Amino acid sequence: MKFILGVEFYIINSNHNFNSKVLLLTELTDYIGRDKAKNEPCMRIDLITVLPEILRGPFDNSILKRAHEKGLLEVVIHNLRDYTTYKHKQVDDYQFGGGAGMVMMIEPIARCIEQLKSQRDYDHVIYMSPDGQLLNQPIANKLSMSKNLIILCGHYKGVDQRVRDHYITLEISIGNYVLSGGELPAAVLVDAIGRLIPGVLNDESSALFDSFQDDILAPPVYTRPEDFNGLKVPQIMLSGDEKKISQWRHDRAEERTAERRPDLLG
Ligand code: SAH
Repeated sequence: MKFILGVEFYIINSNHNFNSKVLLLTELTDYIGRDKAKNEPCMRIDLITVLPEILRGPFDNSILKRAHEKGLLEVVIHNLRDYTTYKHKQVDDYQFGGGAGMVMMIEPIARCIEQLKSQRDYDHVIYMSPDGQLLNQPIANKLSMSKNLIILCGHYKGVDQRVRDHYITLEISIGNYVLSGGELPAAVLVDAIGRLIPGVLNDESSALFDSFQDDILAPPVYTRPEDFNGLKVPQIMLSGDEKKISQWRHDRAEERTAERRPDLLG
């Protein structure tokens, strides 16, 4: 598909060429039109969790809510307890071999994933895990091109290793620290992916110019008033000279990256 080729091109050749990004946007617009015509959302994400309440908030607000209303992203939350046949809706048990902490059992997870997979094809079955691949912008870019994703949120000591061996195709960590559950990490991932779906942000070009898209941080931004108690907006931003403004932003972005994240400059 033209769109996918376009984005692949952009990801691989993201060398600060703003014009090629603008060209790409035309193709993104085609893509939105195509899926709207089919009357189905561009992307579907199924989240599997034992704490659905935690996940509702992030998706009922702001940009992700708009994505849903525009029919661009459908997020479906599954309560794992609905898939267990154990008494008291049990989904976890003591670990074999002893030791503190419960482990999430394979059966309810397998039942849920298999039911979903019988209904549609999935690009990935993702497990949020502190020992997974560290989430970054290129991973979010790639995943934003998916059609259907499953995201499994762990709890307690995590899930039975056999789930990871047999069902999971991608493991993602949001940072080198341990949280008590996969719900917040999953919300972070869905937000990072969702805002990249063409049509979700009001101004699609916005996401292309954010920090990390080109291994470069974003430049400083300003808004009204022009003068706040003597704190002035740089004159060039008010000049109306697009070329100069663009050059200024580029220079400030490079300066900021060199100062804060020299590792990105390679
Ligand atoms: N015993 C595990 C940690 C389990 S934490 C270990 O030491 O690796 C419980 C759950 O929270 C995990 O199954 C995972 O789904 C989620 N989680 C915790 N920290 C995370 C992180 N940094 N990134 C992604 N998911 C995380």
